[in-house]
Order: sequence, then structure tokens, then C-alpha cells
Amino acid sequence: MTGQDFHAEFDFELGVCQWAERAWPPDSDCENPLVVARQLGTKRRRWDTIVLECDRDGLRQRAEFGERALDSDLLDVIPHAPAEWTYYRDALPDPGYPWRYVREAIHRAGDRGILAVRKSGGRIEIRRKSVYPSWIERVIAIENKPDLDASAARHLAPQIERDVAMGLADEVWVATAETGERIEPALLENVPVEAGILVVDPSAGDADVAWNPRTLDPSKPGVRILDRPSGGDHDASAARFEYVDPEWKAQKRREIAERAYERGWRSYVESMRPDCRHFELSWEEPGPTPFCAAKDRRQTAAECRGSCGEFEPEPPVWRTKGWPIEGGPGAAIKRLLARRRRRQRPGMK
Ligand code: SF4
Repeated sequence: MTGQDFHAEFDFELGVCQWAERAWPPDSDCENPLVVARQLGTKRRRWDTIVLECDRDGLRQRAEFGERALDSDLLDVIPHAPAEWTYYRDALPDPGYPWRYVREAIHRAGDRGILAVRKSGGRIEIRRKSVYPSWIERVIAIENKPDLDASAARHLAPQIERDVAMGLADEVWVATAETGERIEPALLENVPVEAGILVVDPSAGDADVAWNPRTLDPSKPGVRILDRPSGGDHDASAARFEYVDPEWKAQKRREIAERAYERGWRSYVESMRPDCRHFELSWEEPGPTPFCAAKDRRQTAAECRGSCGEFEPEPPVWRTKGWPIEGGPGAAIKRLLARRRRRQRPGMK
């Protein structure tokens, strides 16, 4: 991928996230609250954009556990925490790994204030502070390909087939950029029929459905495709795959959702340098996006680092004059993006 391609993809990805947060689902007036995040998934597969359609009351209740994600160990404890003081081994299901890791998770949860923990007669007892809700209704995975031509679609097809076979998400989509030209049938043929195709115009904050996806069933076992024959004339090898059970999928969905809740899609700023004097937010119609005054264009997260040749720290005077709150403009940008993220998390204090 060239630097220009990478730049276009980052830009497009932020545009898709902005649009999704405002207008998901396309062609429908369903009004579930949404959590949108980017670059999340499993160890093997990272999706560009994730949209969580949430239960309204559940999402509000989730806020009781704070902004930080519950990791997999905490998810083995918190949802099972009892209403009354109980010895932890009587309250929790056997984790399938040593109990000492469970005890560590219990103490972390206690330190975070999301679980009541006490010692009674040398035994650790736990009691819940709030009920952990079932807050995720549907998980939507979107692969962004602004320049989706027939060859890019062919290239993408095996990955999308893997996503569909696994069935971790409820829907899989490919988002491509609006070019003013109609999507060729040949291109549609190269994308697996189960995936939807979305044509997005990020600058207008608009999107059209070119192809509707098939709804997948994450509660059924999935198939992990490990290896597939190349399909060449001399390739007689068989595809290798393994089954994935629904419990594993349910746990992964919860973990992904928790990370999405914490990070959202504005967390790009955490890996960029808003403390550089050239870092700005450009305020276009769909919402603010990063802009580099030195390069006179949007910069990618990959190039906006301390090692960037044009990086210049904010002059110290910016951090004192006219910026009464702690930090200079860079810190203010971080706060602004965090506030916008919290706005999508009802009930967050
Ligand atoms: S000059 Fe470099 S570090 Fe500074 S905002 Fe631009 S890309 Fe980021």
C-alpha cells in the first residue's frame, strides 16, 4: 500500500465512523443507541469499523461500571457476581484456568470500585454493586475499501468469506467511496453475497446501500477457515478448518464490545501528537477530524508521531496564557474528543 493509499484509507475510515455514529443503520429507522469503534477484533482478525447496536436500558446500566473496558478475566467475574455476600468459588463458574487468576481479577475489580470484596474467616467473599447488563444487541463489522475495484474485491473476498464462515458479527459489510459511477455487477460478483456493500460519501456524511447483507447467526457454531486451496489447476489440496463453539463467540463479542465501549473511534488521538503546534482539528460538516497545518492536509495516525520530521512541540507559553485549564491546545483537543465519546455513553458520570 502506498503512503497515499494509507492516507486515503485512514481518512475514509474516520468518515465511515462519523457517518455510522450519526446515521446507522442505512435504509432503516431503527433507533437503537450505538457504540462505534475502529480497528478492533480478535487476535487473528481486526475490523476497520465496528458498530454495536445496543439495548437502550442495558447501555445506560453498563455505564455503572465506568468508562474502562472489562477485560476477559473481569468478564469471568463481574456478570456472575451475586446479590449477597458469597464465597467467590461458590458464586463463580469454574473458569477452566487456575483460581489464583480469578482472585487477581476480584481484587482488580475491588480496586476499581465495581465489585464489593471482603475477607470473612480467611475466605474472600464477593457481592455485586450493580447488575452487569446484557447491553449488546447486534455487532456489525465493516471493512473499508475506498477504492473498491474488481481486483481489490477479489483480494478481499477470502477475508470476507472467513468472516462470514466464523459468524462472529451479525452482519459483515464492505464500505467503499462514492465515485459518481455505478457499482459494476462484475465487482459485486467478486464480493461474497453474504456481505453488504455500502457506498459512502464521507464529506457529505451520506451513504447508500448497493447490496444488502445476509444476517448471520452468532448463536450457532462457526467455522474457522485455517487454510484453503489456491484453486489452481494443479491444486488438489483440501481446505482445513475447525469449528468454533457459540460460547467462545459470545465471550469474544463481549470482549470486543467492552473494548469498543472504552475506546470508541476517536481514540486515534491517543496515538497521534495533538501536542504538536501544527496539529489542528478541521471542523467539517460531519464533525471534527485531525488536520496538519504543516502538511496542509489531513495526516494519518502513522505519520503523526514524535519522529515526524515536521513535529514541533507546542510553545510552553501556549500552555499558560489563555489556557487556564491544565495543558495547552493539545490537551484541550484530547478533552474535547473524550467528551464527544462520552456523549455516546448515556449514564456516564
Ligand atoms: S507536523 Fe507531524 S507531528 Fe505535527 S501535526 Fe503534522 S503530522 Fe503531526
